Amino acid sequence: MSADSKFGDYGGQYVPEALMPAIEELTDAYERYVLDNEDGFMDEFRDRLRDFGGRPLPLQRADQLSARYDREVYLKREDLLHGGAHKLNNALGQVLLAKYMGKERIIAETGAGQHGTATAMAAAHLDMPCEIYMGKTDIARQRPNVFRMRTNGAEVTPVTAGRGTLKEAISETMRDWATTVEDTHYVIGSVVGPAPFPAMVRDFQAVISEEAREQIQEKAGRLPDAVLACAGGGSNTMGTFAHFVDDEDVGLYAVEAGGSSLSVDEESGVAPNSASLSTGDEGVLHGARTKILQDADGQIMESHSISAGLDYAGVGPELAHLVDTGRVEAVNVDDDAALEAFHRLSQDEGVIPALETAHAFGYLEKNYSELGDVVVVNVSGRGDKDLETVIEETMERDLSIAPDMSVFREVGGGAL
Ligand SMILES: *Cc1c(COP(=O)(O)O)cnc(C)c1O
Repeated sequence: MSADSKFGDYGGQYVPEALMPAIEELTDAYERYVLDNEDGFMDEFRDRLRDFGGRPLPLQRADQLSARYDREVYLKREDLLHGGAHKLNNALGQVLLAKYMGKERIIAETGAGQHGTATAMAAAHLDMPCEIYMGKTDIARQRPNVFRMRTNGAEVTPVTAGRGTLKEAISETMRDWATTVEDTHYVIGSVVGPAPFPAMVRDFQAVISEEAREQIQEKAGRLPDAVLACAGGGSNTMGTFAHFVDDEDVGLYAVEAGGSSLSVDEESGVAPNSASLSTGDEGVLHGARTKILQDADGQIMESHSISAGLDYAGVGPELAHLVDTGRVEAVNVDDDAALEAFHRLSQDEGVIPALETAHAFGYLEKNYSELGDVVVVNVSGRGDKDLETVIEETMERDLSIAPDMSVFREVGGGAL
């Protein structure tokens, strides 16, 4: 763990002057409590991850997938973390850090609502007031998550600017923070934003690979040949890769959302994918220099993915750097292949993955012969939140693998 603020040309602190005191205070707290374990911060973090979060989480051999692909396939079961995804590792770490810093209020942004939900849970657990900024479009399409946040006692504030999605919600949360830094901590949801967030969020998520690296050596007697994780902002990939980065023989694969196509629709200015590592260009977004989906004028493009959690135009600066140096391979999988992989993992293994996670399995399905004998795939989250989407999308598509949907056709919509 180290307090890097730059990763090659990426990263940095591109923030308004008003935010610099907050950034400096946070950097100091990160170094003392997280890196130096002052006041036993990391011990308390680990205790709470165990008792509240349910860690350590299993590394499970996937018997059917291993037979199908003729190699050892292991699942890191991050879907079993409290809340149903890896996001709580980071949310709990940051809310606890805010407590150690003497802050009295938590704010966060959310897109699909997964990070907002994890933050609201962590804030309730640690008895901190919490306000979540969320685009109005996202509120309308993510009602269950909005209700989860409210149930946990968080305020949900609609953001009406722009198209009312994640990008605007982040900007609004930064604006709040600039005027409330004295008593408020901003819990960023991924390895993005100005330093120290990318390094700090990575360190909170690194518990995934810390466990997995030990577990795979116990189970397979060796390190894996390949480790796969899906990449939205990149916290799941950075956490899954962190303890393997120095193992040069372990291949690291960041699987992005290829959406419906990798090419840009010039007329609408929409990128029908979220593959910023594969197709983005260098620029500054939300306080950091990184790879971004942008048009020729540098305007941020709207991204698309079948999975809301991968639908972001940027990506973490350290991940972008690791791809540039060749340590991490950036690959992508389209909506159809992710949906097929969702059904494959559910049918073969009895594990219903989040649509984000399904992208990693879509890559495994198409490229397993190149991945070596022992493969670890991180199951970043469970699929319960995606079932409505999966029903609709499965009915609309001609997939090579899917359950019989006739029962839904007979009774029509609204079955769930
Ligand atoms: C949010 C989310 C992701 C993507 O976010 P990262 O910042 O890339 O980790 C992946 N999987 C699940 C289940 C998620 O909820």
